[in-house]
Amino acid sequence: MTTRMFTARCSQCGQRFRAYSKTVLLTRVRKHMWDKHHEWMVARMKAGRLASGSPGNPTVGMVLGAIAQGIPVAIALIRLIKKPRWSRLESAVSTFEPYMKPETRAAWQAVKSIKGIDIRRGG
Ligand SMILES: [Zn+2]
Repeated sequence: MTTRMFTARCSQCGQRFRAYSKTVLLTRVRKHMWDKHHEWMVARMKAGRLASGSPGNPTVGMVLGAIAQGIPVAIALIRLIKKPRWSRLESAVSTFEPYMKPETRAAWQAVKSIKGIDIRRGG
């Protein structure tokens, strides 16, 4: 009889979870995410749909589409992107800046700076 506990941490608020079974743990985390971070979960699902087929490799069009749906969706999408790819994608999307609506450009600037913070933290 093993007493090994599975542990997980909420990526949004840092709350810790422990359970004797991985399934129970995942169910508990998922329930917590939907209860406490509903908007973030919705944004993540939208981002997942936008990036479907190429997670971690979204196109310029996917990024622009995500920005149009709001900052939370855009952030959820760009958090799927790794650092080297992000540098290229960032400059590609930035070439569209002059053609963006002011509110889209503001959202893009916000998303860029948030991704910059993620990268400095090692994400
Ligand atoms: Zn949480």
